Amino acid sequence: MSDKKHYGFTTTILHGDRQKAIEHGSLHRPIHTSVAFGYRDARQLASVFQGKEPGFRYGRQGNPTVSALEDKISKMEDGIASLCFATGMGAIGAVFQALLRAGDHVVSSSFLFGNTNSLWQTVAGQGVGVAFVDATDAERVAAAITPATRIVFVETIANPRTQIADLKRIGELCQARGILYIVDNTMTTPYLFRPKAVLAGLVVNALTKSIGGHGNALGGSLTDTGVYDWSRYPNIFDNYKKAAPAQWGIAQIRAKALRDFGASLGPEAAHHIAVGAETLALRMERTSANALALARMLEADERVAAVHYPGLASHPQHAIAGELFRSFGSLLSFELKDGIDCFDFLNRLQLAIPASNLGDTRTLVIPVAHTIFYEMGAERRASMGIAESLIRVSVGIEDTADLLDDFRAALAGA
Ligand SMILES: *Cc1c(COP(=O)(O)O)cnc(C)c1O
Repeated sequence: MSDKKHYGFTTTILHGDRQKAIEHGSLHRPIHTSVAFGYRDARQLASVFQGKEPGFRYGRQGNPTVSALEDKISKMEDGIASLCFATGMGAIGAVFQALLRAGDHVVSSSFLFGNTNSLWQTVAGQGVGVAFVDATDAERVAAAITPATRIVFVETIANPRTQIADLKRIGELCQARGILYIVDNTMTTPYLFRPKAVLAGLVVNALTKSIGGHGNALGGSLTDTGVYDWSRYPNIFDNYKKAAPAQWGIAQIRAKALRDFGASLGPEAAHHIAVGAETLALRMERTSANALALARMLEADERVAAVHYPGLASHPQHAIAGELFRSFGSLLSFELKDGIDCFDFLNRLQLAIPASNLGDTRTLVIPVAHTIFYEMGAERRASMGIAESLIRVSVGIEDTADLLDDFRAALAGA
């Protein structure tokens, strides 16, 4: 593969590894299980430790298999560098560990993955102020910013209600104020959307979901898009200011989060995720088509009270989604009419599996209020627009007719 020619998304993922020679002509990067990396010349070991030459030191801070995946993710997101973590939460936790100090302030979308919501509550108890705002409206984000605001954090398509942040205007706002803009791109993936296009400085991906795509490995990543000027960020330690400012953020996150807190991705998981990523585009096309067909069918059914899917014209941010995203993704949620028991409905499904994950090849369903959003309580659920009967569907790549038949039959029994 030539280094110069500009290839498409999938071609780049498939052939990118071969830009560096791999022994025996292997087409996959090998799974390097070694924790330590030996050097013949002890001076070279010291030089690697001091950052004067490239090389691996100890598996917690870097591993060749993980590093190959990081390169792949940087290409997918058109970023300058990426770091992988053991889970998506490990990646989001790293933001707190490496970049925030007591007295700092974060503005976060109130429409959030449940565990991220829980993480921000923890952070609030540790001296960091967090303002939750309706991020579908950039004005509300602007109004919540204080002189101590360091980070604005949003998701692209929020799980499970599918609200879409006012991504572009929030990006412009953050750039004007020198605030770090972090976008969790898990639900769109870099195939449907690149947050760099809306001036995000850091991009989160839960690799566990669509990028790995098969529900067989946990992982997360942070990508520096190169958009943010780290010389404007007040919390960078002098130690990480040796190289050009573009590298300060990742250098500090690698040391202060990955090295000190240790949520490192293992090489076997990295390999699973890298192989899964090869078919990301194909799977996203298929799940998006399946999800749109299912959303339309549910919306037309009299037993369904509401359907939340950005591909429907009835979705409040349908226009923004159409403008920014290549297609509308695999996440939808819906509410059954009063009097229909959501558990009875779920138990009638033959293909869709009651299970908690997203972006799997198989269709998964979950009653949100009773499971993933149970702990936060009814009041906070209501403030996030989570109905007690809400069912989240992570649409898989099954044959469309089989999937629709399954939901049609389960509704018919209601
Ligand atoms: C699942 C998910 C995460 C967390 O990823 P894990 O790998 O499960 O820790 C973060 N953000 C979003 C939007 C997610 O869907």
